[in-house]
Amino acid sequence: MNIPFVDLKSQYQSIKADIDQAIASVVRDTAFVGGKPVNTFAKQYAEAMGVQHCIPVANGTDAIYISLKMAGIGPGDEVITVANSWISTSETISQTGATPVFVDIDDYYTIDVDAIEAKLTSNTKAIIPVHLYGQMADMPSLMELATRHNLMIIEDCAQAHLATFDDKLAGTTGLAGTFSFYPGKNLGAYGDAGCIITNDDSFAEACLRYANHGALVKHQHTIEGINSRLDGIQAAVLSAKLPHLEAWSQGRIDNAARYNELLAPIEQITTPKVRSNCRHVYHLYVVRTPQRDELRTFLSERGIATGIHYPTPLPLLPAYERLGHVEGDFPMASARANEILSLPMFPELTEDAQQYITDAIAEFFS
Ligand SMILES: *Cc1c(COP(=O)(O)O)cnc(C)c1O
Repeated sequence: MNIPFVDLKSQYQSIKADIDQAIASVVRDTAFVGGKPVNTFAKQYAEAMGVQHCIPVANGTDAIYISLKMAGIGPGDEVITVANSWISTSETISQTGATPVFVDIDDYYTIDVDAIEAKLTSNTKAIIPVHLYGQMADMPSLMELATRHNLMIIEDCAQAHLATFDDKLAGTTGLAGTFSFYPGKNLGAYGDAGCIITNDDSFAEACLRYANHGALVKHQHTIEGINSRLDGIQAAVLSAKLPHLEAWSQGRIDNAARYNELLAPIEQITTPKVRSNCRHVYHLYVVRTPQRDELRTFLSERGIATGIHYPTPLPLLPAYERLGHVEGDFPMASARANEILSLPMFPELTEDAQQYITDAIAEFFS
């Protein structure tokens, strides 16, 4: 058997007619950038998230950068974020001229809220929690801390479409939620795409203006901005896919439950922990074992693709050498980085495939 890490083909096959028609209509109307398909998707996504505003942008990285910039973050400021994430979360902080301040992870691979206070200074302006792998950070505790210290929260929801904490959707608690619609994400376009959601009217207007060269009306540039527009084709694909997102999320959750069951007898494997009151949407299904590298090779030899998210904690990457961190600064993130393994996870993953994968894991440890 050959099992890919993600399978975008089988999803396309399941909704081929809708996707083909959506793309053809954009081409027919030559609505290539902005315009009707983009406005339609933005409206649909805001409705799906239950928020006032969805600002479509070019990708999930820009969504974070624009949010930080429009929140007023700049040189001299410090922004708290988490040691285990994709580099977009922290490089965007640097792009504004501010300094990323990294905090270790908790047992759920999200920011350790108890470790934040020790990192606050008079320059701290905001916190970017990352709802990693599809599970939300401890937002209630984080909001309490942010309110007490007058800090803004921008939620990185790139991996957490439709995840909830106490029935509240990811991206709807802080000042803004930023999403990526990169093809492999839980809601994926057919190229780069992203958005910002918020209930703050003036912040929403500022983001929309900044993403469109500083002009809300053509040629009326009130400020200098950037070009971070969403393509019509991407928006049309996203509109065609959005009605399926709930069922696809449930498919991931069901597959995670099956993995948990099949892996339960293998004591060398630690399965993901889910917070109470949380809906984990399993962008990634990440297990742990001290024999990670050997297991990964063994699975690869049997046609099973796996991933590591992420092999090095952000502050220990060469890109952050200037911050002078050592492994001991982030004991949890450093320890986990050597043991985590992401197994194939997508809604269309079959029971047979999961049986094959878990049989191979059992064989490795026997
Ligand atoms: C994918 C991702 C991003 C960036 O999104 P792009 O659309 O690729 O720019 C940011 N943060 C996290 C946690 C991600 O997984």
